[in-house]
Amino acid sequence: MTRTNLFKIHEWIIEEEGFHPELNREAESIFSIGNGYMGQRANFEEKYSGDSLQGSYIAGIYYPDKTKVGWWKIGYPSYYAKVPNSPKYTGIDVYVNGREIDLAKLKPSKFKRILNMKEGFLKRNFIVKPFRGQEIGIESFRFLSMADPDLCVIRYKINPINLSGTLSLNIYLDADVKNENANYGEKFWESISNHAEPGTGMLTARTLRTDFYMSAGMTFEITLNGKKVNPLQEVTNRKGYVANLIHLNFQAGDEITLVKYISVQSSLYYPVKEHFKITSARLEYAKRKGFEKLFEAHKKVWEKIWSISGVKIEGDPSAQQGIRFSIFHLNQTYTGKDERLNIGPKGFTGEKYGGSTYWDTEAFVLPFFLKTAPMNVSRNLLLYRYRHLKKSIENARKLGFRGGAALYPMVTMNGEECHNEWEITFEEIHRNGAIAYAIFNYIRHTGDKDYMKDYGLEVLIGLSRFWSQRVSFSKNLGKYVILGVTGPNEYENNVNNNWYTNTIAVWTLSYTIQNIEDLKKNNPEALEKVFRKTKFRYNSETGKWKKIITGMYFPYDKKRNVFLQQDGFLDKELKPASAIPASQRPINQHWSWDRILRSCYIKQADVLQGLYFFEDQYDTETIKRNFEFYEPMTVHESSLSAGIHSILASRIGNIEKAYELFIRSTRLDLDDYNKEVSEGLHITSMAGNWLAIAEGFGGMRIAGDRIKLKPFIPYRWKSYSFHARFREIIFEVKVTNSFYIVKNLSDRPLPVTIQEKDYDISPKSFIKIKTV
Ligand code: BGC
Repeated sequence: MTRTNLFKIHEWIIEEEGFHPELNREAESIFSIGNGYMGQRANFEEKYSGDSLQGSYIAGIYYPDKTKVGWWKIGYPSYYAKVPNSPKYTGIDVYVNGREIDLAKLKPSKFKRILNMKEGFLKRNFIVKPFRGQEIGIESFRFLSMADPDLCVIRYKINPINLSGTLSLNIYLDADVKNENANYGEKFWESISNHAEPGTGMLTARTLRTDFYMSAGMTFEITLNGKKVNPLQEVTNRKGYVANLIHLNFQAGDEITLVKYISVQSSLYYPVKEHFKITSARLEYAKRKGFEKLFEAHKKVWEKIWSISGVKIEGDPSAQQGIRFSIFHLNQTYTGKDERLNIGPKGFTGEKYGGSTYWDTEAFVLPFFLKTAPMNVSRNLLLYRYRHLKKSIENARKLGFRGGAALYPMVTMNGEECHNEWEITFEEIHRNGAIAYAIFNYIRHTGDKDYMKDYGLEVLIGLSRFWSQRVSFSKNLGKYVILGVTGPNEYENNVNNNWYTNTIAVWTLSYTIQNIEDLKKNNPEALEKVFRKTKFRYNSETGKWKKIITGMYFPYDKKRNVFLQQDGFLDKELKPASAIPASQRPINQHWSWDRILRSCYIKQADVLQGLYFFEDQYDTETIKRNFEFYEPMTVHESSLSAGIHSILASRIGNIEKAYELFIRSTRLDLDDYNKEVSEGLHITSMAGNWLAIAEGFGGMRIAGDRIKLKPFIPYRWKSYSFHARFREIIFEVKVTNSFYIVKNLSDRPLPVTIQEKDYDISPKSFIKIKTV
C-alpha cells in the first residue's frame, strides 16, 4: 500500500479499507472529529498497543510548557502554550472469553474506517479472531455533537459470528495522559477527583500552572439483540481513573450494543464546583434523548452548514472530496461562538504548533469564514485580537518599543508571545500587518463600520505605532527601510527590506490615517474617545507616519520589472524548483538549514502574498510578471502557499496552473504531499482551498458595495457551484461551460457585477448568463 492511495475517492466520505498499522498515525489525523468546543484524533476505543498518537483536545485550555532553547536571548518568552491531550473519555476495553481485543495483536480482517463528512461521524468495522476459527465482528460509531457541544456519543456494536461465551466491556475515563511533545517530559494534568458507581463515572482534572479544570462524565446503556439489559457492574474508582466493568453471556449470532454517552465540561464555562451537578444533568439529558435523537440534532447542524457553505464539483471526484474535507474540518474546528477561542494550524488533530494562534487566522481562515459564516463568527475572531491588545503592547515594550506600540505575538493563546526562535519571534513582524488587514477585510465584507470606532481603530493605532518605530531612516538611500526581518517565506531570515513587510507596513499606516480622517469627519466624539484612550498625539504621530508612507523604500528589479522579495535577492543563483531532484523534496527534510537559506527557494507566497492582498493596486501585467518570476522558485513547503498561488494563477488567466495548485493544496493532507500528516492536518491552509474556488475560479471580489464575479471553469470539470455570503446575503454561484447562474437565497437584493456588468438580483430569485 502506498501512501497516496490509502484513502478511497468518494464525494462525501473518506474511507480506509484494510488496516495499515504502519500508517495509523496518518489515518488518526485524517479521521479526526471535532465540534469547535473539543476535538479528537481517531484513536480506537478499545486498547491498541501499536503505534498511535493519542489526542483529545478541549478548545481554549492550554498548558504553559517551559521554554527550551539552546541559547537564551533576551525577549524570549518563558513558555510555549500547548493544548494538552485531555483525559481520555472514549475508552472501552473489550475482552472475549478472557482475550483482550487489541488490533496490534489480533490482526483484523475486513477492516474499514470511514469519515462521513455530510453527517459528521466516524465509523469503523472489522472482524477479529480472539481464538483460532472464532470470529467476532465489531463496529464503532462516534460523533462529537455539533448541537450539544459538550457531548461525545459512541455506539459500539459486537457481533459474535461463530462463538459463544462471555463478553467483558470495561467502560472508562482516564486522566493518566501525556503530551508527546512536552519539553521536559512533564505531565500537564493533575487529577483532582474521581467518582464512580454502577452505570456512571466522572473525573475532574486540573492543568498544572494554568489552573484550567476539565471534568468528564460518562454513562451508558447496553442492549442484547435490541433489548435493554442491565448486567452486573464492577466499579473501579481510583485517582485519575474510573471504570465500569460488565460481563455478558452471548451466543453466536447475537448483537450486543453499548452506547456510551460522555459529557465534557471545562472551567472556561462553569466553575469547577458546579461540574458534578452539570455533568450529571447533561448525562441524564443525553440518555433521555438517546443516540438516535442526539445524532439527528447533530446531523441537522451539518445539514445547515453544508447548505450555506457547500461546494459541488461535477466531473472531478477527487477535487470534490478534497474540498469537502477542507470545509468539514474548518467547520468542526471553529464554530465562532466564543471570542476567547481561535484556530490552531492543526486544529484538534495533533500536538504540533501547540494548538495556538498564528497569523494563519487573519490571513487565511478569516476570509473563509467571512464568506461562508454568519458575521458574528468573524467578529469573534477579531475580538480575540482586540482582547489581546494590551498584552501586545506589553510584548512590544519588552522588545524596546514605547508609547503604545503593539506587536502581536507570532504564536499565542492568551496574548502573550510563545514563540522562541529569534528569527521568527523578533523578526517575523509582518504578522502585525495581517491583523490590520483583517479589520479592513471584515468591514468590507460585513459592512459593520461601527467596528472601527468601537474596537478597530485602537488596534490600528497600536500597530501603526509599532511600524513607525520599527522603520529606520537610511541616509544612504534617503528612504525609510525595515531591517532584520523574516517575511512570510521562512526560508530567508534576517533580511533587509522584505517587500511584503514594507508594503503591509505602509498600507497599515495609510489605512489608520484614512480611518482617523473618516471618523474626524463623521464621528468626532468617537474619535476623541479613541484618542483619549490611546493618548494619541495627532500631529506628531500622523506627521511621522505620512513621512514613512511617502518615503518608504521598496526593492525592485528594473530589468525584469518585478518587486524584489528582499535586498540582495538577485545575488542568489536563481533556479526553478523543478531542478531539485524529487528524492530531495521536501527540502526542509533533506537539506541543511544554511543550504536552504542560501538558496533562492521560497517556502510560501511572499511577494505574491502581498499581490494577493493588495491586488487592486496592481495591473494584471504586474501580477503576471511577478507570478512568473516567483512561482517557479516556490517549493510550497508551507501548506499556506499553494492556495494563494492558485488564486493568482486564476487572476492572470493561467487556468492549468491554477488547477494544478488547487489540487495540490486541496489534496495536500489526503495524499500527504509534505509527508507530515502523521502529526496532524493543515487546518488553517484548508481555507485557501475554498478561496481558490470562490476567488480563483469564481473570480469573486468585493468592489465597494457590490460583489464581483468573473468565473471560469477548469477544463476537467463539467460544472461547479459554491455558496457564499456578502453583508449577510447568502447566494449560490453555479458555473458550467455554457452558463453561470447566480441565485440569491436571501430576502434582500444582491448587488452583483458579473463580467463587468451590474445586476441587482431580487430576493429568492436568480439570473442566468450565457458564457461568452
Ligand atoms: C509557516 C507560517 C505559519 C506556520 C503555522 C509555518 O510553516 O511558514 O507562515 O504561520 O507554519 O501554520
